[in-house]
Amino acid sequence: MTFERVAIIGLGLLGGSVGLAVREHLPGVTTTGYDADPATRERAAERGLVGTVCETGAEAVADADLVIFCVPVGAIGAAAREVADAIPAGAVISDVGSSKAAVSQALSEALPSNVVIPAHPVAGTERSGPDAGFSSLFHHRWCILTPPDGADAEAVAKLSAFWEALGAKVETMDAAHHDLVLAVTSHIPHLIAYTIVGTASDLEDVTRSEVIKYSAGGFRDFTRIAASDPTMWRDVFLTNREAVLEMLGRFTEDLTALQRAIRREDGQALFDLFTRTRAIRRSIIEQGQDDARPDFGRSDH
Ligand code: NAP
Repeated sequence: MTFERVAIIGLGLLGGSVGLAVREHLPGVTTTGYDADPATRERAAERGLVGTVCETGAEAVADADLVIFCVPVGAIGAAAREVADAIPAGAVISDVGSSKAAVSQALSEALPSNVVIPAHPVAGTERSGPDAGFSSLFHHRWCILTPPDGADAEAVAKLSAFWEALGAKVETMDAAHHDLVLAVTSHIPHLIAYTIVGTASDLEDVTRSEVIKYSAGGFRDFTRIAASDPTMWRDVFLTNREAVLEMLGRFTEDLTALQRAIRREDGQALFDLFTRTRAIRRSIIEQGQDDARPDFGRSDH
């Protein structure tokens, strides 16, 4: 048994995908939704992202037994406070935010009488908004639940069953550990992509048209990540500050070691590292987390 009435606050990529996935995989479950942006609400209704698009958050949550906040992590506290008075006492509260310790605290403070079980489906694209969502977004992707100590076990089990029904695999961990793991697997890679694309666009000796023309050399793979939503990523770095700074320190040390290997013409050090990293790519493909086709399956070459 999972939930019967799911309210989704925020109808962009993640909220829209949850709504569409519920419709496809849990047809008996009713969905209501609300987004702060009237244009998004209109588009969400046209696409049928949820059964009922409401004009206020309070209306959307009024009858829910599960409320999922799908707004940028910096907006979750305010979004929760806005609907706090309208949320039924027994409703389970969750979210899809990319950082977990700060979100967990914001939700618990805003909704002290509800069971709060934060979650992060590790699935997404560089697109955002009400046209970006699709029902299979969570298929074969991990969804990490970070229940606080002493969380209601039945609620955790129901939320796990919910995400499994949408096609995800569920893992449970401590919020602080989540933030460290995601700093290295997601947040730092985004920071590196934002940096390299920014650096390339600021160069004086290489023209912007050359950067674009020869991008198939590797640059374009960074541009996909660097095209991700600026609001979402600003909030991720501000709410996962400590873990990101810790991992960034480690990354900077490793980068300096590589710089030294290049300067000293230490080919063996470079070769050894590149051999190790190749094995990681193989494991990701073996575990079904990416496509093995050359060039990420692009057909334009
Ligand atoms: P999105 O497409 O931009 O959708 C977020 C929506 O929430 C926007 O329509 C936004 O409206 C709305 N919103 C903001 N504040 C609100 C409020 N107080 N009440 C109601 N609606 C509000 O973003 P997304 O990619 O779905 O990201 C949503 C969450 O998912 C974030 O916490 C993110 O960290 C997490 N996440 C994202 C990915 C990914 O790859 N994108 C993956 C996993 C998890 P406005 O545009 O008017 O602000």
